[in-house]
Amino acid sequence: MKKPVMGIMGGTFDPIHNGHLIIAETVSNLYNMDKVLFIPSGDPPHKQNLKITEKEDRYEMVKYAIAGNEKFSISRIELDRKGKTYTIDTVKELNDMYPEYEKFFIMGEDAFRQLKTWKDYEKIFSYTNILIVTRSFNMTMDIHKGFDDFCSKIYVTKTPFIEISSTHIREKVEKNQSIRYLVPKEVEDYIKRNKIYINLENSNKNNL
Ligand code: ATP
Ligand code: MG
Repeated sequence: MKKPVMGIMGGTFDPIHNGHLIIAETVSNLYNMDKVLFIPSGDPPHKQNLKITEKEDRYEMVKYAIAGNEKFSISRIELDRKGKTYTIDTVKELNDMYPEYEKFFIMGEDAFRQLKTWKDYEKIFSYTNILIVTRSFNMTMDIHKGFDDFCSKIYVTKTPFIEISSTHIREKVEKNQSIRYLVPKEVEDYIKRNKIYINLENSNKNNL
């Protein structure tokens, strides 16, 4: 019998935006996913020097953003883990929790290009496939290069090119510009209500 399929969408989500949601919905359809799990990062090692919004705020925004989509759910496994959070620990844990699922860890091309700097990156492939989605017009053809041993575990999907990033959203809020249609209405309201991003420190800028 065919295994159920799960997408894993990890991110800082500072804040979650329509780019994340469109990507998740697109791949969920293309790969007949039964479930897409959004995992807000706890203390991401690659963003140590950057000021990140309070984790409970990032969690709430994801919760609001995915409400109403019966395939989307959220996990606290990284938020509740002490210390730095590494993807290898997350996919291992997910594999224990959902052994019956075929898994696809979804990541933008920009994130994939950093993969070799991640802790035990080779072991990640023991627990999940990786699904790379387009983040620019010119996704290069050689994206698999250097990953010869893992080719069968790497999927590349041309998704609509969506020029939205959390960095741009934070900057727009700080400049008092509209973020309407870039994030779901509930996320926009949450940001306003809680006065997030109105006074960015330098370190909070340009995370992309
Ligand atoms: P920041 O600007 O703060 O880095 P971001 O927009 O890149 O934020 P992240 O939370 O860092 O968002 O991204 C989580 C995952 O979603 C990463 O794998 C990233 O590549 C992917 N992603 C984010 N935005 C897009 C987009 N517009 N198109 C495709 N993938 C995206
Ligand atoms: Mg990013």
